[in-house]
Amino acid sequence: MIKTQLEEVRERIEAACLRAGRSSSEVTLIAVSKTKPVSMLKEAYDCGARAFGENRVQELISKKPELPEDIRWHMIGHLQRNKVSQVIGKAVLIHSVDSLRLAQQIETEAARKGLEADILLEVNVAREESKYGFMMEEVEEAIMLIKNFSHVHIKGLMTIAPFVENPEENREIFKKLFDFAVDIGSKNIDNVTMDVLSMGMTGDYEVAIEEGATMVRVGTGIFGAR
Ligand SMILES: *Cc1c(COP(=O)(O)O)cnc(C)c1O
Repeated sequence: MIKTQLEEVRERIEAACLRAGRSSSEVTLIAVSKTKPVSMLKEAYDCGARAFGENRVQELISKKPELPEDIRWHMIGHLQRNKVSQVIGKAVLIHSVDSLRLAQQIETEAARKGLEADILLEVNVAREESKYGFMMEEVEEAIMLIKNFSHVHIKGLMTIAPFVENPEENREIFKKLFDFAVDIGSKNIDNVTMDVLSMGMTGDYEVAIEEGATMVRVGTGIFGAR
């Protein structure tokens, strides 16, 4: 049942915040609703969920009009450049900016529409071959170019940690991304803030929160297996 699951996730977030000496108001729970029907999203909405994450543009734009307007939609999946125009103005945050060309396309399309786009840079902290994202050593160069875009604003970093049995195995990954964000933030780069750290999924969001996540993306833990 979605209500019970959602309550459990919220309690676990609360407990992780307590352990870390953080306020739970610093952590946004994104209900990852990919592949799930609108009826299930409605149920989560009725239990207070207001942030939803989708990994496909088509799914996001088809579900959005079916649900209340105060939902904040997050684009969390790999984004193809030819889909960018459809998502601008629909998603409040694009978590998955994994190349300079994609950032450039977002700039072009946002400018065309007279809109602004908030983005996160996806970082492949674990250096997994199967994953998208910038390698850590590529991030600074990307930031130095993207900061000059007038319609794109970098709000922080995102990572998808490896699938592991024991979430403790990902603690180092989260710690690394946190330290990296602090380091970049301390440079006070124009048009770049590091307020958002999107990390942690069903298997490891508590550890991610202990290590500084400000957004956790939880799908299975709320909606059940896909
Ligand atoms: C599917 C997905 C999630 C949620 O995964 P769960 O393990 O079901 O919580 C989080 N982030 C991204 C980028 C995803 O694609």
